[in-house]
Amino acid sequence: MPKADYYQVLGLAKGASDDDIKKAYRKLAVKYHPDKNPGDKTAEEKFREATEAYEVLKDSNKRAQYDQYGHAAFETAQGGGYGGYSGFGGAGFDLSDALRAFMNDFGGESLFGDLFGFGGRSRRGGGTGGTRGNDLQVRLPLTLEEISTGVKKTLKVRRLDRCGECHGSGSRTGKRVTCEKCGGSGRVRHVSNSFFGQMIQEAVCPVCKGEGQKITDPCPICGGSGLNQSETTVVVDIPGGVAEGNYITVSGKGDAGRGGGPAGDLIVIIQEKPHELFQRHGEDLICEIDIKFSEAALGCSKEIVTLDDKVKLKIPGGTQPQTVFKLRGKGLPELRGRNRGDILIRVNVRTPEKLDRKEKELFEKLADLGL
Ligand SMILES: [Zn+2]
Ligand SMILES: [Zn+2]
Repeated sequence: MPKADYYQVLGLAKGASDDDIKKAYRKLAVKYHPDKNPGDKTAEEKFREATEAYEVLKDSNKRAQYDQYGHAAFETAQGGGYGGYSGFGGAGFDLSDALRAFMNDFGGESLFGDLFGFGGRSRRGGGTGGTRGNDLQVRLPLTLEEISTGVKKTLKVRRLDRCGECHGSGSRTGKRVTCEKCGGSGRVRHVSNSFFGQMIQEAVCPVCKGEGQKITDPCPICGGSGLNQSETTVVVDIPGGVAEGNYITVSGKGDAGRGGGPAGDLIVIIQEKPHELFQRHGEDLICEIDIKFSEAALGCSKEIVTLDDKVKLKIPGGTQPQTVFKLRGKGLPELRGRNRGDILIRVNVRTPEKLDRKEKELFEKLADLGL
């Protein structure tokens, strides 16, 4: 599928001002942010697309290239290996890139009030050198009971940690030499000829991975990377009312950075375990119960096991099939509110399927009475 025009994505014309671009993006990003549209793939894609467009158009150099060459300006040269322009291209600009870019641009502005969770994707490690570690994602399945009260969870996370032997330097003796490929800048320029003429792209140096330095005597434990696979435990505090697809960012608990760079973040994505009785609709919980013919006619009392206690539901005589009863305030809490949803109980009236002689006679008597 061809990529949509970046201006069209933001609903703007080509000559739009920087201010218009920022305003248009901000509006779309807030509307389609995954936190506000949990589990909505269309919104997710719109958010990603708008962020990608904004990341290009907000930067006057990239914008000029885009205006001249279109999307071809950012396509990786044949053969790959250069990691793409400014971190995207190659593997593509995915949702986590978009979320990070969004937080870097607007994280300080508090768009949703107190953005869900804690930690936040703040801008960190600017100018300290090295490469930031990867963000890691883990899925955390929760029961409706846990979502109802909120819960503290201890997660075991496999992540790249600093090598204890070389203290993260990657070198046995601590010696490092300047990378000859990039002359220590960590960036290389790549010239390619295309249909649009000659293009110059700058990319991360493939030899030193942007660090500008190389190791000549690699550490025998980590093989020179400065990083080792390790397992750590992370405790996360999940507030009540979360939903499938919500996430919590734990700062600095992703992979350790290379060459003194900051660690990535751990992104904990909430999953909802199916419940044997209830289905969730926002903050409401829906279930169905069966009652007998006689119970519907005469009335009865049924015990409903809610998420935290047991409640007697009084069903009055003369209840029709599919009647819905409500247990007010027995549903899930709002994520950042004081209200709770309801439990909605739909009643199925079971018609007896096999009647013995005596039962049949009784039903016939009822029929004679006009019932
Ligand atoms: Zn280099
Ligand atoms: Zn090491």
